[in-house]
Amino acid sequence: MARALMLPARELVLASGNAGKLAEIARLLEPLGLVIRTQTEFGITPPEETGLSFIENAILKARHAARLSGLPALADDSGLEVDFLNGAPGIYSARYAGEDGNDAANNHKLLGALEGVPAEQRSARFRCVIALLRHAEDPMPLVATGTWEGRILEAPRGEGGFGYDPLFLPAGLERTAAELGKAEKNRLSHRGQALQALLALLS
Ligand code: IMP
Repeated sequence: MARALMLPARELVLASGNAGKLAEIARLLEPLGLVIRTQTEFGITPPEETGLSFIENAILKARHAARLSGLPALADDSGLEVDFLNGAPGIYSARYAGEDGNDAANNHKLLGALEGVPAEQRSARFRCVIALLRHAEDPMPLVATGTWEGRILEAPRGEGGFGYDPLFLPAGLERTAAELGKAEKNRLSHRGQALQALLALLS
């Protein structure tokens, strides 16, 4: 029996207000016949991300949405790990430069932190963890992960994507994540991989 059939409802709340993520996740979960709702539809605002790992934060966000909506909930948490910076910005990727979600400031700070560091020492990866809770008290969340290897360039390239995409050159590619088409990025990215892994767990 598919794990999805063990969900107490056919509806699922996505613990994110991000429309791009919603469309991507809804498309992937479509075959399971689930109706995806956003937490904003329920007036739910995101909780403080107090966890010290991607997994803790993904579970914390999903649990918060499940508690307030009364429905199963799915959340993702992601970030960039740079080896030369001992894994920073990591779980603090969205607020690396202080202000939450200021991509330009984050990229500027990252370039400064890596100034003069040669290409072979600029290895990095995006990580994504997705957690699915059947209900707010679920003691056994489903967890799926994805990793995207690459390195940080010395200057931004490309207009697409978001966050650190213009500085991230995926391993084996000549184009940055910001120079990839949406579908291509979704197929390769940490988030795309985590979603595929979740789908495999569900079916
Ligand atoms: P969140 O998972 O939405 O909290 O994202 C965490 C942060 O990690 C984002 O604000 C970005 O700075 C960074 N990040 C996560 N995924 C990506 C990506 O696919 N491209 C570029 N930056 C990303």
